Amino acid sequence: MKPVRKCPRCGTYTEKKLCPECGAPTEVFLDGRRRLALSRLLAGILRHFPEEVGVELDEEGFTDCDVHELAERIKTRWKNREYYRWLTGEHIVAVAETCPKGRFEIDERGRIRARYGHSRRLHVRPTLPEAEDVDELYHGTARENLERILREGIRPMGRKYVHLTDDVSEAVATARRHSDDPVVLVVDVSCLRRHGLVPRKAGKTVYVVPGRVPPECISRVIKHPRRVLSRATPPKAAPEGREGAQEDSRRGGEEGEGGGPGRSEKGGGR
Ligand SMILES: [Zn+2]
Repeated sequence: MKPVRKCPRCGTYTEKKLCPECGAPTEVFLDGRRRLALSRLLAGILRHFPEEVGVELDEEGFTDCDVHELAERIKTRWKNREYYRWLTGEHIVAVAETCPKGRFEIDERGRIRARYGHSRRLHVRPTLPEAEDVDELYHGTARENLERILREGIRPMGRKYVHLTDDVSEAVATARRHSDDPVVLVVDVSCLRRHGLVPRKAGKTVYVVPGRVPPECISRVIKHPRRVLSRATPPKAAPEGREGAQEDSRRGGEEGEGGGPGRSEKGGGR
């Protein structure tokens, strides 16, 4: 990952060398390796194993402490705490505010939560906004899953939500991490609503649907998504490489990382 930089004038965190808020030159605040490790760990704690650092989540998924206290608990209780001696609450803020997928949210009291991707056992009900202005959403998966999905729908596979995206290239990138032969399912949002399934916006390009996307809401399949993409703008690079490969994946999820579409179906998701 790129390092997180900080503006010395206004305090903004950014990946850019010039502050997007005030134009001042920024300075490296958190290098790419530490950023990636911390992002994975935060996703793991907030989605899957808060108890391992002595944190409790409320029903909306927020921690019972602010980010400064969370940093202290990581430094004293996490099994790999030796690695995190440098950690402060500010580093947590920097990772949350610059997360390219909008995985994290910090409230006015300094408490943090994951916006999506929680284990089922956590009983977290994040308050996410309803999707607006989207007619279609996409879900990437491996071609070998296609027949089953068209028969059974898209199931959340161990999570609370099916993850969809409004960005075809994201859907392809996610599927491609797990398959050389990706396909993209196009989901009809008005059909979801007719089934009482309201998609909610969980990140910049990520949407979640509770339960299962019924097969009749899959309006079409893009069987050769790479061709579609190469005709348009070049696809974005696969996000963050192998993110989530460690801490967060222990519960079989990922990384949720990603939040990516396709993530929720076996083979398509990882
Ligand atoms: Zn600035």
